[in-house]
This record gives sequence, C-alpha cells and structure tokens, in this order.
Amino acid sequence: MDHDDLNLWAKRAADWVRDYHAGLRDRPVRAQVAPGDLLAQLPGVAPEAAEPVEEIFADFERLIPGATTHWQHPRFFAYFPANASPASMLAEQLANGIAAQGMLWQTSPAATELEQAMVGWLRDALGLPDDVTGTIHDTATTATLCAVLTMRERALDYAGLTEGLSGGPRLRVYASAQTHSSVDKAVRLAGIGQDNLVKVPVRDDLSMDPDALAAAIAADREAGHLPCGVVFCAGGTGVGAFDDIAACLPACAGLPTHVDAAWAGSAMVCEEFRPLWAGAERCDSIVFNPHKWMGAQFDCCVQFLRDPVAQVNTLGLRPDYLRTLEGEDVTNFNEWTVPLGRRFRALKLWFVLRAYGLDGIRGRIRDHVAWAEALAGRLRAMEGVEITSEPRLALFSFALESDAATEALLTAINAEGRVYLTQTRHRGRFVIRVSVGSWDCTEADVMEVAQAVERLR
Ligand SMILES: *Cc1c(COP(=O)(O)O)cnc(C)c1O
Repeated sequence: MDHDDLNLWAKRAADWVRDYHAGLRDRPVRAQVAPGDLLAQLPGVAPEAAEPVEEIFADFERLIPGATTHWQHPRFFAYFPANASPASMLAEQLANGIAAQGMLWQTSPAATELEQAMVGWLRDALGLPDDVTGTIHDTATTATLCAVLTMRERALDYAGLTEGLSGGPRLRVYASAQTHSSVDKAVRLAGIGQDNLVKVPVRDDLSMDPDALAAAIAADREAGHLPCGVVFCAGGTGVGAFDDIAACLPACAGLPTHVDAAWAGSAMVCEEFRPLWAGAERCDSIVFNPHKWMGAQFDCCVQFLRDPVAQVNTLGLRPDYLRTLEGEDVTNFNEWTVPLGRRFRALKLWFVLRAYGLDGIRGRIRDHVAWAEALAGRLRAMEGVEITSEPRLALFSFALESDAATEALLTAINAEGRVYLTQTRHRGRFVIRVSVGSWDCTEADVMEVAQAVERLR
C-alpha cells in the first residue's frame, strides 16, 4: 500500500464513515457479542506476505462494527459521552496525515503554538482569569497524576525527585469520596499511597465538608504528617457531585489545589452553570476533557494552570539530546507532562471551536441539560420509578423499588440495545445513571429511555 492507494482508500473510508454515522440509529448501541467472539475469528499470527487492501478493508467491515459499542450512537447514555463532531474527525485525519510529534517547540512549532492558542481560547470561554495557562494531555488521569506529583514535590521542596520518598514524612492528599478513581490512582502512582488519600466527609448534598477538611489537615499536621494538596470534585462520575470550592478554599490552609471537572468543565462555556464550580478560578490546576462533551474526540484533555513553574520543575528534564537552541523563550510541552512524545491534539480543538462557534457548543450543552431534565420528569411520573439523584447538568439516576428489580431492568434495556445505560451505587442502592451528551442526539432519542423503561420493567 502506497500513498496513491491511501488516497483512494481514504476516500472509501470517508464514505464508509458517513454511512456508518447515518446508520447508527439502526444498530444496537452496545456490542451484542460475547467475550472472545472476535478473538476467535482472528488469525493467531501476523501474515508473512503482504495482503491486498481490498481484503483488509473487507475484513474490517465484516468483523469490527458488529463487535463495537457505538459511542457516537445518538442513544448512548452510558458512562459519560465521548462525543466526536464531524469537524473534529476531519482535523484528526489531517493530524494523522502529518503525524507530527510535538514534544518540543522545534519538533512541531505549529502543534506547540496552536496548543497555546487553544488553551487561551478555552480559558476565556470557560470564564477563567487571563493569567491562566495550560497544556493538552491525553486524559484526565494523566493530568490529575501530573497535578498530584506537583503537589508532592512542592511539599518536599523538590527533594522527592532526587532522593525518593523513603524515610520521609507521610504525605497527605485530601479529596471527597465522590472524586473519580483517577485520584486514587494518582496517589498510588505518586508513591503517596492509597492510605494517605484522606477521603473528607461530605455534606448532605455530596459536597466536601469544609470544616471536616480543615480538621483533617490540622490533625495531620499535629501528627507530624505532611499535607500536600486538595483535589476538588466538580461533576463526580457517580451522580455528578460538586464540591463547594469557594467554601473549601479557606480551609485549605494554603495547600495547592486541583479541580477535577473532566466531564462538567465543558458546560462552563455557559455562564449560567459557572456557579457550580465557583472558586475554581482561584485553584492552581483544573482538568477538563473536551473529549467528553465538547465534540473534540478522544483523546483531548486540557489542564489549566495558574502558574506552570511548579509542574515544569516537577516533570521537566533536559538531557543533552533534547536541548533546544532557541533559548529559554520557547515552550517545550513535554516538560509539562509525563510522556515525552505528544500527539497534535490542538488541531481538532481549532476546527471544532471554529466550525460550531462557542454559541453552537453552548446550544448543544443547554439542549442536553434541558432534555435530561425533561426525561427525569417523565420517569418521575411513572409508577414505581424513583429519581435517586436529581439532574446535575445532564446526569441523573433512577431506580425501581429493589436493587434486584433495577438490575434486571438495566440488563434487559442493554440486551435490547435501543439505548445504552450504566449503573452506579448511590446511598447504598443500585441505581441506573442517565448521562446525555452524544453529539447527534435529539430530544426524541433521549425520550426513548422512558419508552424502554415503560416497555421492559
Ligand atoms: C471521565 C472522568 C475522569 C477520567 O477521564 P480520562 O480522561 O478517561 O482519564 C476523571 N474524572 C472525572 C470526573 C471523569 O468524569
């Protein structure tokens, strides 16, 4: 396969993608296969001889779509969305064609400078202060790891980087139990240890209790431990919990702060939702995933930083072979993150923000929120259905009278495949989450959840 073949097949692929998206509503949302089904159909070893593209493409069509859960399906209401707009897909094609490596300014000036510009556009779009900068990572998990490593090193005055952690004081990080497991993973990977992630009690509305936070930090200091930072939850994965960041900041006693708004951050393009994360603008680090709810497809995670110096001191290394001769003025984004190599992710943000405009993105998010509320209203009116958590933006949960009945309903709904939903545990109960946010969904698609519940309970 050479570049002429690529030209031909890329056009075929574009046609295929158009038809795939146009036909999504006719497919079950979740892959209707059993574990091992696909694997059993694949040869165990790679071919020795080149195969014709026709055959490869035909096998793709025969094997892959049927074993795929369709994240771009308009009736995908599971987990959180990973929505992909057409403008984003186009930009990804171009980025794939260039296949640049943006580890240094010099290795791809366009990737570096477009990234700087896009972080600035998004900072303003989300109503954050002018002096905030940031970078683009693959995922929120990476961004939160970077934030936690930076907290650790600030607390240790950067000695952990050279001396390691053995024999040092116990480092402590604070977060509520509503935060995502990526925070647990970050403290594990950072060598802080799960036992030193203090799960601060929450109030009735699932927000971190500021008095409990202050007390936990004071008790740790008293005990000779070393508090190093606080992670806030702005849109929890279970049922969309938000910490009252502004109320908690005075309790942080000057510790570095990081906000996990991986899902909900996109909604902050709408001014009316910003009270939900009031105080975030004063935090040291904020993570949000345009790849969830802003149409810039996976992977695309923005981390805002009030001041990048501590993170660059923590993560930046300059061996001789990475020295650049441009001097100190250029930004080498590998120093802001864990991996050295970096994809050209800013391109899709540039295309998406221009092709739809902030107004177009706001309109979609407002629709999703309104439709989630309307659906919750429909379900609430059904005999035997209980709304177990009220809509937070476009996420709510519901349940039937018993865990067994709720679980049976979820299994039936997903086996049928008209809509796709997932579960969580909330206040001790098995509940079904509804998360609206697919790029192409309509109000009618959202209302199909009510019909499925009606039909299958
Ligand atoms: C999705 C999500 C994450 C993890 O996101 P990745 O980008 O997949 O690592 C973390 N926190 C919250 C609140 C999320 O919704």
